[in-house]
Amino acid sequence: MERTMPRDYYEVLGVQRTASKDEIKQAFRQLARQHHPDVNNAPDAEDRFKEINEAYQVLSDDNRRAAYDRFGHAGVTNGGMPGGGFSGGFPGIDEIFEELFGGLGGFGFNTGRRSRGPARGRDLRHDLKVDFQQAVFGAEIDIEVNRREKCDMCSGSGAKPGTSPRKCPECNGSGQARRVQQTFFNMVTVTDCPRCRGKGEIIDSPCPKCTGIGAVLGGRTIKLKVPPGVDDGMQIRLSSEGEPSTSGGPNGDLYVVVHVEPHEYFKRRNHDIILEISVNVAQAALGDVISIPTVEGDIELTIPAGTQSGKVIRQRGKGVPKLRPDATTAGRGDQLVVVTVEVPSKLTKEQRELFEKLGQTLGREVIPQKAGRGFLDRIADFLGGS
Ligand SMILES: [Zn+2]
Ligand SMILES: [Zn+2]
Repeated sequence: MERTMPRDYYEVLGVQRTASKDEIKQAFRQLARQHHPDVNNAPDAEDRFKEINEAYQVLSDDNRRAAYDRFGHAGVTNGGMPGGGFSGGFPGIDEIFEELFGGLGGFGFNTGRRSRGPARGRDLRHDLKVDFQQAVFGAEIDIEVNRREKCDMCSGSGAKPGTSPRKCPECNGSGQARRVQQTFFNMVTVTDCPRCRGKGEIIDSPCPKCTGIGAVLGGRTIKLKVPPGVDDGMQIRLSSEGEPSTSGGPNGDLYVVVHVEPHEYFKRRNHDIILEISVNVAQAALGDVISIPTVEGDIELTIPAGTQSGKVIRQRGKGVPKLRPDATTAGRGDQLVVVTVEVPSKLTKEQRELFEKLGQTLGREVIPQKAGRGFLDRIADFLGGS
């Protein structure tokens, strides 16, 4: 499945990376007004609007925006995951303003309300814990999702088998009630029909299994493919795996939020894995070959003679796979081994004698370090440049 790289979300909305929530909202409103397919007949209006809406969904949500800032599109989309991508239609233009003026912001987790057409089911969120290793190499994990399922007895209609719902006489099946308010203007407010609650139909004999709701609570197991290289806070969207609509609309989406458990030894920094080790003064001075852990098991590492505390040794390709927006990976990061030289705090009699001898050969001269090039600076330089 070939997907073109999506455009930068900030660029799509034409805002700075430092834009406030209000600025983002304002930019979105302006663009939505121009490009919504309800008001713009250009052939690419729909695509353009989808792009705008997607950018807004991400940038208006603090967590998703943070993930996007750190990881780009890989942080907020599920790329080539089954059923991935933009789905479920998009909000009507009046809904946009309703949501914006209502201050709810964003459609990432929809509330199932739409002012036109059948309502989408609700989006669901599932929090998934993975261990460090699973995050690095990917995993197939069964997740249990509790959601409302379409009732199998009435196939979701809510009517007792053998009967069917009838058209609501109050709204003649439209599901809408119009009210004209006399203010400075004639204001027409459209609300859900109170008789049928916006469904447009009335059930005389409700289905005994779901009591007319059309849905029952059920658990489902979904086999989730976690792609290699996921990081803490990333979201995987499974479209149409959310709750079913109660009025014949499309399902909501399921957002799986990934939580990576910390590792005993490894820390992660984007695609690099940081491992801190300590060696003794003899190993540091004379050099040694030692065994150290990597995510793929132990390997040998050469400590060069004359190693100073704070030295960082880079092991290429031993880091985390670089996850791309389409859920494939391209290359891997590195493992960065930070070496600390341990000075013994307790000495045996023999060690004391040896150190005293050593001390005599080294002399007692104190050489001041050049200012500004301390050990912390070196680590910062090294990590900053990777
Ligand atoms: Zn039923
Ligand atoms: Zn009605």
